[in-house]
Amino acid sequence: MNQRNNHRLVLFPLPLQGHINPMLQLGQILHARGFSITILHTNFNSLDPSSHPHFAFRSIADGLDQSKASLSDIPGLISLLNTRCASPFEECMREMVSSPGGDAVPIACVISDTRFSFTCGVAERLKVRALMLRTGGATSLHVYSILPVLKEKGYFSIDGSRSEEAVKEFPPLQVRDIPGVNLQKPEMALQFFDNMIKVIKSSPGVIFNTFEELEHPALTSVREVLPVPDFVIGPFPKCCVTSSSSSLLAEDRSCISWLDKQPLKSVIYVSFGSMAVVSEAEILEIALGLADSEQPFLWVVRPRSVRDPEWLQKLPCHFLEALERRGKIVKWAPQMEVLAHPAVGAFWTHNGWNSTLESISEGVPMLCMPCFSDQGVNARYVSDVWRVGVHLNGGLERENIARAIKRLLVEREGEEIRERALVLKEKASASGRQGGSSYQALDALISHILSFE
Ligand code: UDP
Repeated sequence: MNQRNNHRLVLFPLPLQGHINPMLQLGQILHARGFSITILHTNFNSLDPSSHPHFAFRSIADGLDQSKASLSDIPGLISLLNTRCASPFEECMREMVSSPGGDAVPIACVISDTRFSFTCGVAERLKVRALMLRTGGATSLHVYSILPVLKEKGYFSIDGSRSEEAVKEFPPLQVRDIPGVNLQKPEMALQFFDNMIKVIKSSPGVIFNTFEELEHPALTSVREVLPVPDFVIGPFPKCCVTSSSSSLLAEDRSCISWLDKQPLKSVIYVSFGSMAVVSEAEILEIALGLADSEQPFLWVVRPRSVRDPEWLQKLPCHFLEALERRGKIVKWAPQMEVLAHPAVGAFWTHNGWNSTLESISEGVPMLCMPCFSDQGVNARYVSDVWRVGVHLNGGLERENIARAIKRLLVEREGEEIRERALVLKEKASASGRQGGSSYQALDALISHILSFE
């Protein structure tokens, strides 16, 4: 254990898996640099303190009923969390500031998810600073900042048949990649992105889980729009010294011993993150596409991500035979370990920012199938800018799926993509090593926090 520096950081993650993971990784990074860490978490999707024994945990009563708070309406859920959490957060913070408890390590600052709009105000009242953690990428944040312009230009009223047209204000984006463009009523989402920009603008600094070498042009633009100190210190998974799990679901580790038995770089790993839902028709196409690809596959199907609990038994024999011979299905995987496994050759992903960055960090080529929010932007950059993956073109149909998997795992094109992915992986690693861009930014972040005294 390295020396403690007598400063406590209070970390306040949004209670969704894709936000919890980077916040807890940030906690590990800062703990390794001497800070004491308190995680303030909601009762909704509450965290398990035993998986991070070196952190202190405090929960706040949000009064949210787990069964009623729906993951199918994320803007609605976040707005509800903002309403329910503001007072209990203030109460808890006030108590921690006024009576810090036995260990009495004073609070140096709060680090809050950007989706909470009240943390800066509360912190100001209590004379504490609140830095913001942007858990998504810089490019998507830049896109969020120009959404009002894109709306004015009419992109939100373009009919579906023109979804592959170029967005000339933001190459290489296509209309379908614009966050919120597919929503019936995009106003709430637009409001929600705008709020996030305002929250960052009024904060004393923002931390990014990305690295300069990956998103330098976007970071330059973001710095013009959001003139607050920024600290680009990712990718977090590469910078963590220890890797404790923050999974809300139990990780099925049997997939690691299954991977141990598969040939090198042969497996397609399939996971669409913690929120995406698939219909029965889509499940069937995915299953048959995996069977027809003739490659080994590891497929994460979360409980409740498919409505019919009997979905597996209803799949055709053709798939069930392939599953028995060369497939594995789990409810939740230790994803970072899976991506780092030598048997994994490609990742079929929804391009949530964490999954995208984890794949880049391990040099794994991606098959991109974005679903919503920033995922379209992330996927477009993966395929067209960083060129470390391909889009699943032509729709979610078995022939397209099998074809795309073979492109990545069997054909020459896949080898070239893998070569580029390995170059990017090395850049990601280098940024976190002594002297690298993220390493230096972390030093700057620590000095910034210590200057708050
Ligand atoms: N994840 C995991 N096991 C799984 C699927 C996902 O540990 O079986 C983790 C993954 O490593 C990532 C997070 O869940 O850190 C998902 O975040 P992401 O931003 O990719 O997508 P979201 O869930 O927010 O849509």
